Amino acid sequence: MAYIGHRCGCGHTDLSHTGDGTTGACHARFGSSCGGKCAPAQPEVITSFDSKGRPIEQITPPGEGLKSQSGAPIVRTCTCDECAALYQQLTGANA
Ligand SMILES: [Zn+2]
Ligand SMILES: [Zn+2]
Ligand SMILES: [Zn+2]
Repeated sequence: MAYIGHRCGCGHTDLSHTGDGTTGACHARFGSSCGGKCAPAQPEVITSFDSKGRPIEQITPPGEGLKSQSGAPIVRTCTCDECAALYQQLTGANA
């Protein structure tokens, strides 16, 4: 499913970072630093794809969990004000 997150200056998303958003160390490469330059980033919709490679249009609300295809690791999407605002803007949730 698509979700709202921050694509860090290093090119990875916030889900690859420890800590909150892109403030923590990036561990996109199996626990070691990715070597990129981490920098705070504005939230954006990060598309994901289903098992047939089709984009999933439904957006996960901020703070809800994502499941991997195996259903195992569950991470939570960012809940900062910017992400919440973008979600509302896209879904019209507060219209
Ligand atoms: Zn990175
Ligand atoms: Zn980073
Ligand atoms: Zn955020």
